[in-house]
Amino acid sequence: MTVRVRYAPSPTGDPHVGNIRSALFNWLYARHTSGTFIVRIEDTDQARLVPGSLDAILDALRWLGLDWDEGPGSDAPHGPYVQSERLDIYRKHADWLLGEGKAYHCYCTPERLDAVRKQRQKERQPTGYDRRCREPNGAAEAREENPNLPVVRFKMPTEGNITVNDFVRGEVTFDVSLLDDFVLLKSDGYPTYHLANVVDDHLMEITHVMRAEEWLPSAPRHKLLYEAFGYEMPVLVHLPLILGPDRSKLSKRHGAASVLEFRDMGYLPDAMFNFLALLGWSLDETSEVFSKDDLIKHFTPERILANPAVFNIEKLDWFNGLYIRGMDDSALADALLPWLEDDEHGLPASARPVDRAYLASIVPLERERLKRLSEAPEMLSFFFEERLDYDASLLVPKGLDADTTRAMLEAALATAESVDDWSVGALETAYRALAERLGVKTGQLFGAMRVAVTGRTAAPPLFDTLSVLGKERCVSRLRAALAAL
Ligand code: GLU
Repeated sequence: MTVRVRYAPSPTGDPHVGNIRSALFNWLYARHTSGTFIVRIEDTDQARLVPGSLDAILDALRWLGLDWDEGPGSDAPHGPYVQSERLDIYRKHADWLLGEGKAYHCYCTPERLDAVRKQRQKERQPTGYDRRCREPNGAAEAREENPNLPVVRFKMPTEGNITVNDFVRGEVTFDVSLLDDFVLLKSDGYPTYHLANVVDDHLMEITHVMRAEEWLPSAPRHKLLYEAFGYEMPVLVHLPLILGPDRSKLSKRHGAASVLEFRDMGYLPDAMFNFLALLGWSLDETSEVFSKDDLIKHFTPERILANPAVFNIEKLDWFNGLYIRGMDDSALADALLPWLEDDEHGLPASARPVDRAYLASIVPLERERLKRLSEAPEMLSFFFEERLDYDASLLVPKGLDADTTRAMLEAALATAESVDDWSVGALETAYRALAERLGVKTGQLFGAMRVAVTGRTAAPPLFDTLSVLGKERCVSRLRAALAAL
């Protein structure tokens, strides 16, 4: 059997972490088994569609490298992969159920349904549909009241239990009396989630349905639909909830919940990938760091956990730092470049365009300190700015005053001008000798020089910084510091 799995988003909002985690698990399983990963767009609830959200979802998949074998834009034989383009298919299936006496037309108006619901609430009964139209007399009556097109409802059994088998949770039993005759086809001709989902999973030959646990309550309805059609049911694999650190369902309240927001906050796709893979799956008690290839190799549904996963952003930061440190200079420079060049959040226009080779020489100095790519413009700006903006009093080290500092920096400037070998080692030798000659502490000299060449009191190691900045920049910055003093 070839594994065929699908990710079936509804374009009703931002690509939520939980949703993309489902995509990722499906993708991993498809790649692990050399199976097929399908993306199917479930856009049948027209009232909830949010413009732009389909593109956002597909962007999130592309950013993480979750490429699909069949889906939007592919002309594979199981298409189209957008449900609103398959309405005739669902209508045909609903008609077939009607013909078999497994479904019926319901003419009840929304107002009546509302009244029934309220009445039942008052009586503390399950609030579902009261099945008036399931009987011919009731249907005739309702039809008189409502000239509009009917909906199609599924005839549910009225009593007993239904047990579904979930790969992660085992057997889960539902009381059928709590489930009403749900709608299959709405009066606007669009199917409901239940009908479209079951029909498509069958027609697209889906072998495993891997989706978030919140869909588990739909499983008994789906099971009955599969039986009504005489279809074999795919294996159900419900993925655990994702909670915030306060143990409530992860949402925007916890900072960010959309994968694209994390992208825009400067997380690396590989770090995000690794992090998401561990939200509900583990190889063992201890392993955490997995490349994509490792995950493809090890990912099996047997290791999906039933307990909720907790989304811990510090952990994501930790992964991000780890992946940043794992990148070579050139790759990290490439990753940083767009952040530095960004018109809105990047370096000031006067510091751009960024010289790619110069950036690559800076990268080794900052790599350890960088947690998110978005920190780069602020962290690296002093390497690029023509004129540094700082408070001149920062130049004066403890134990010295402005005059003695000026004399010290004049000597530092003279040394810079006379040194030809601008390597880290040569600079360090020259400036240690200078401190000794001047009778100042190295901390005093190096501290003042650090502020002069970086505009900051905290920066990467001084001589590495001097060396990367280059002689010309350092000389002119020392001059500017003297002028400021
Ligand atoms: N369209 C549903 C969603 O947005 C799909 C649920 C399923 O995978 O069956 O999550």
